[in-house]
Amino acid sequence: MNNSNTYDVAIAGGGLAGLALSIQLAKAGYAVALFEKERYPFHKVCGEYISLESWNFLEELGLPLSDWGLPVIRRVQVSAPNGEYIEHELPLGGFGISRYKIDAELAGIARSSGVVVKEGIKVTDITFERSVAHIHTGSDIFHAKLACVTAGKRSNLDIKWRRPFTLHRSNRLNNFIGVKYHIQTDFPSDLIALHNFKDGYCGISRIEDGRYCLCYMTTAANLQMNGNSIPEMEKNILYRNPFLSAIFSSSVKLFEQPLTISQISFERRQRVEDHMLFIGDAAGTIPPLSGNGMSMALHGSKIAFRSIDAFLKGHIARHEMEQEYADRWSRQFGRRIWTGRQLQRWFGDEKRTNLLLHSLKPYPKLISFLIRQTHGQPF
Ligand SMILES: Cc1cc2nc3c(=O)[nH]c(=O)nc-3n(C[C@H](O)[C@H](O)[C@H](O)COP(=O)(O)OP(=O)(O)OC[C@H]3O[C@@H](n4cnc5c(N)ncnc54)[C@H](O)[C@@H]3O)c2cc1C
Repeated sequence: MNNSNTYDVAIAGGGLAGLALSIQLAKAGYAVALFEKERYPFHKVCGEYISLESWNFLEELGLPLSDWGLPVIRRVQVSAPNGEYIEHELPLGGFGISRYKIDAELAGIARSSGVVVKEGIKVTDITFERSVAHIHTGSDIFHAKLACVTAGKRSNLDIKWRRPFTLHRSNRLNNFIGVKYHIQTDFPSDLIALHNFKDGYCGISRIEDGRYCLCYMTTAANLQMNGNSIPEMEKNILYRNPFLSAIFSSSVKLFEQPLTISQISFERRQRVEDHMLFIGDAAGTIPPLSGNGMSMALHGSKIAFRSIDAFLKGHIARHEMEQEYADRWSRQFGRRIWTGRQLQRWFGDEKRTNLLLHSLKPYPKLISFLIRQTHGQPF
């Protein structure tokens, strides 16, 4: 398709899943439009530790990762709220890079590969009639043979379409908040630390330019109990972990205000709805404690690309493409997401976390096994 406003594929959401999918499609010769409601570069709440399983794929997309001297992270430290901790080698490991940099660099590659990147444009609805998807923005309607939704954990589209996870009452899998700072601090560059506190955990690891990302997730209830004040919550709850009080008091914050998001949910979602493919967090969000959401979003885009390519070439019908994508996604990530949900249900209780860390310490093989559950294989 090549009329103006008409594309082979339209993608709603320009995070890692949307950008990676758009680049693969454009390089294969398809006409692609990518809609992103923000303007690049911009910050995002995320721990900014990417599992090394994604390294080769990102380089294949065109990111010169090896040239950027990014910190490679080989060790993990996990502490309990009482300060008891374990430290362990990471079997695969990861690297640090800010979302501010990686998303903008991928958007640049997308543009130069021929993707029409429509930034600052929010998709307000997608409808499907007679084999054509119609993508509605505030002022225009675009058309495509296929629409993909890569709009992240919870978007205006999820609310509009009343996707089930947006309708549930508060429970142990939803209603979390995320808070992020970039900081300057004295901390090893090859270490990621995960410090637990009551009803939450905070990660710290290095990114580019000698900065560190400090990012935590907790329940909305924790914030409410502290008068909806982030500094009060940090003082009254996070600082009870001695590692966190030391980090917060000895670091320089590089943002005027922390970046925050709310209403994070880890509940189940469908991968295909109304002939749209959902990819990345929009298909299934994994708790950061137990998985690498960015690598899953990137890997998910590769799985989607294979099925979409076969459909656009006429090798398979639309319903086959939809079924194939959903099956491949479930085979690849279903178990990881399920494990993540079980762990998330358990997390947060101070006594339980203290006991768990204490009990794990003498069993390094078990620790290795648990860490492997959070990382996938290179793809
Ligand atoms: C606190 C926290 C820490 C995390 N830490 C890590 C970590 O260290 N490592 C890791 O691997 N993962 C981590 N994750 C998970 C990771 O951030 C996500 O899995 C990943 O960002 C998913 O990518 P995505 O492309 O699906 O979504 P996103 O990156 O969220 O991108 C979605 C995009 O869609 C855009 N959008 C939304 N609605 C619309 C619309 N209607 N129209 C147009 N654009 C729209 C948004 O602006 C956004 O840019 C963390 C998550 C949280 C909450």
